[in-house]
Amino acid sequence: MLQKTSHFMRQANFIGGEWVQADSGGTVDVTNPATGLVIGTVPKSGKAETRRAIEAAEAAFQSWKKTSVLERHKLLRKLHDAIMDNQQPLAELLTMEQGKSLAESKGEIAISAAYVLWFAEEGRRAYGDVVPSPWGDRRILVTKEPTGVIAAITPWNFPSSMLSRKLAPALAAGCTTVVKPASQTPYSGLAWGALCEEAGFPKGTVNILTGSAGEIGDEICANPLVKKITFTGSTEVGKMLMAKAASTVKKVSMELGGNAPFLVFDDADIDRAVEGAMVAKYRNSGQTCVCTNRFFVQAGVYDAFVERFSEASRKLKVGAGLEEGTQQGPLIDEKAVEKVEEFVADAKAKGGKVVAGGKRHALGGSFFEPTVIADAKPNMMFMKEEIFGPVAPVFRFETEEEAVKLANDTEFGLACYFYTGNLGRAFRVMEGLKYGMVGVNEGLITTVEAPFGGVKESGVGREGGHQGIEDYLDTKYVCIGGLGL
Ligand code: NAP
Repeated sequence: MLQKTSHFMRQANFIGGEWVQADSGGTVDVTNPATGLVIGTVPKSGKAETRRAIEAAEAAFQSWKKTSVLERHKLLRKLHDAIMDNQQPLAELLTMEQGKSLAESKGEIAISAAYVLWFAEEGRRAYGDVVPSPWGDRRILVTKEPTGVIAAITPWNFPSSMLSRKLAPALAAGCTTVVKPASQTPYSGLAWGALCEEAGFPKGTVNILTGSAGEIGDEICANPLVKKITFTGSTEVGKMLMAKAASTVKKVSMELGGNAPFLVFDDADIDRAVEGAMVAKYRNSGQTCVCTNRFFVQAGVYDAFVERFSEASRKLKVGAGLEEGTQQGPLIDEKAVEKVEEFVADAKAKGGKVVAGGKRHALGGSFFEPTVIADAKPNMMFMKEEIFGPVAPVFRFETEEEAVKLANDTEFGLACYFYTGNLGRAFRVMEGLKYGMVGVNEGLITTVEAPFGGVKESGVGREGGHQGIEDYLDTKYVCIGGLGL
């Protein structure tokens, strides 16, 4: 391992500006999914460590909230530079614990830095209002104030950028933070402690701890000092956190599961659709919340699309993320592979035809072949459940109305994509799809400038865009009377 990479691989909690172990001295192993080997450990923390982290954040909040937006802006710019100066070692660390290709990890580190820069700017534009008063002698102001201590819980699939979308707006707004990264990918989260130290953030503004999800989560939900929970992960855990956070009426932002449809109409540019399908399906080995879960292709172009998409899928280079030229890494663990196998077996039993891949990759471990399944039917598991793997079921449809209905037939509503060359259809379908994000003739749409988030059971709140800072600010109405005007 390069010296710089090991510098960022912190095997300790970051609480109140100190690197510390769990009270019990207990640890959790961290594994490289490409080799199955343990690469290190992190502290197994519980309620007591969480409470201390929250108290450190609350103490830091008292002075951090008083800093000027310009001071915070400058520190965030330093953080951005520290991330980009260390893009390579941070990306290597990410690949080691998560498995994705080094090229994808470098992209994730770059977008993490881009979120920091974006919110450094947005912090300076957190405007309030001066409202025309209905009274001659009174004036009305609406101001924005930092919400307070923010608890952030993040998943393993984008362990750096999911944290950036929370930490950056929180710090820009004047909030302080307690972070719990996923147990399978904690190092990319803990690295932010080292980066924030390097950038010069005051002790306690950022606290990061690892360990028992249940204990840490329960303390976060119950502790009245925490004013907001921002979570990215499964809908199941998100619902539970929302219920528990209700006891202290905390603000919540939830980025939850998806079941993205990808529609291809007869009038689409098929080559462009195949290109979009490749990124919308196979990025991070299909382990993204915005990954296509269901392809719906109109009868007239069905065979051509399946053929070209399968051909491109077979060409993907599967391998260890750190190996030159790898396009698709392993899945996160054995359980993920078993789940993907279950989807394939279910489809085959119900008449699905495997036209590419379909089984574990010859490399063994948790590697799986990029897989395309034709003749997918609505009674197959894909229709309702998130695959979270490199499997692409392709359904056939006849009419636009039928396609939109099928696409909306899910409790999720995060991202969706469709391809058409007809302008009228583009607007009709865009308006008909009940999703938070729509890609029209585009398969990769995430960018810091745009609001990312879902409707229905895919979540509440938005990350990125000018909307991304709003959840970290409280609105205060001030009525000033007795002005003698
Ligand atoms: P997960 O099991 O819900 O875990 C996410 C985080 O929640 C982890 O840090 C996990 O900790 C923690 N957690 C688990 N149980 C908890 C509890 N009882 N209390 C508090 N925290 C708890 O989800 P995942 O499997 O890591 O991530 C995949 C899911 O995330 C997919 O559904 C995907 O669609 C969704 N996702 C959504 C977005 C979005 O923006 N909408 C983005 C990325 C991913 P441990 O690791 O310690 O268990």
